[in-house]
Formats: sequence, structure tokens, C-alpha cells
Amino acid sequence: MVGVKALLLDLDGTLAETEELHREAFNRAFREAGLPFSWDRPLYKALLEVTGGKERIAHFLRSFPDAPRLSEEALTRLHQRKNALYEALLREEGAPLRPGVRRLLGEAREAGLLLALVTTTSPENARAFLETSGLKGVFHLVLAGDIVPHKKPDPAIYHLARKELGLGEGEGVAVEDSRNGLLSARGAGFPVLITPGLYTADQDFSEAQGVAEHLGEPGHPARFLQGPRAGERGVVDLDYLEEVRGWWST
Ligand SMILES: [Mg+2]
Repeated sequence: MVGVKALLLDLDGTLAETEELHREAFNRAFREAGLPFSWDRPLYKALLEVTGGKERIAHFLRSFPDAPRLSEEALTRLHQRKNALYEALLREEGAPLRPGVRRLLGEAREAGLLLALVTTTSPENARAFLETSGLKGVFHLVLAGDIVPHKKPDPAIYHLARKELGLGEGEGVAVEDSRNGLLSARGAGFPVLITPGLYTADQDFSEAQGVAEHLGEPGHPARFLQGPRAGERGVVDLDYLEEVRGWWST
């Protein structure tokens, strides 16, 4: 019997590898604004420690010695432009879902689990992603951006999700790709399955209840790196989520 009542997922890096599109959108916004810098992959990897695009730009400007001083208003405009460019890139190029995402969401919905999207990306970006990926209407709850005062790794957004979904501790399982996401979900009482992403593979996930290469598809099994193993099928399914939940209390 499956006792898990809800499945909560992060967006960037977890549902899809969107970070390269985000990076390109930041760089296009900087070029358009005449700002003399561009973020390469190693730098962007370090900057991803800061959650939230606006916070990330502000953090970079503080640490970049020759950076121009931007007013709060200019910073907001720059971030809004980045989001518009990201949305355009998403609609042009798309961001394919990671293996097993569509399958697991379908199985969870069919079994009556509550589904939540819990992301620090802006509501506009989240909406554009759901439209272009064919996931519009799949989630019962979408929490995005500045809906809480402090972003991940603060647990506020997962506390809010728990309240909105009416869940007790350990009744839902969170899927994340980063340490910030892990700390946020764990801090609000959710067992966490990590599927490391392009930019997060070498982070510390030792407190996670499970770590899997990805969610797995029949014919494209995932490797299981920590926590329960998925047997011959090599896919994360509802029984597997229940096992992850079981590891929470042990
Ligand atoms: Mg993520």
C-alpha cells in the first residue's frame, strides 16, 4: 500500500535542464544593457549557490570589482528583461523533460497523489515552462518566486506547500537536484530524493533519503547512488517513493 500523499518537485535542474537557457538569457540581458560581463559555465555554477535571479545578479555585482552600480529599479528592470529573454528562448528552443519526469507525474496523478511545483524561479518563467513542456494543469499547486520572503535553502516555501496541501511531517516526498533544495525541503519535514543535475552533480547530498541519477524510464534505467535501490526496473515509481518515505523515519 502506498501511503505517500504528495509529490513535490523543483523545476530548474529537476524537471528539465533549464540552467543553460537561464545562463544564456542573463548574458543576452547584460549585452543589451551594455554591461561588460558574461557568465561562463564555471562562474554560473558558483553563482547558482545564490537562489533567485535578481539576488544572483546583485550578489555578482557586489563581488565584481569593476561592476557598475545599479539602482534597485535598474536591477529589477534588468531581471525582468532576463526573464522575458528566457521565456523567448524557452519557446524557441524548449527544455526537454529529464528521463522519467512525465511518466512519474502521470503515475502519481492517476494514484491520486497531490502534485506541487516548488520553485524559486519567477512565476512568469514557471508558467512559460509549464506551457512549453505540456505540463500545464498537471500540478495541483504551483509555488514560485517571491511567494515567501526567503528563498531556498530556507524552508519557507516547503512549509507553505505543506500548509497548502494539508500534509503532516513525512507525508509527501520532495524531488530536488541541488543542496539548496535538499536543505529547504528537509527543513520543512519532507523526505528528499535527489536527481543531481548538470550543475549540481558534485554537491553534498549526504542528508538525502535517496539519490538517483534520474527518475528512470523502462529501457533507460537510472543508477541509484544512495538510499533505496529500485530493483530490476531501475525507475522511480510510487513504490520507490514509499521506500524513500520509509527512510525518513529510520
Ligand atoms: Mg533546482
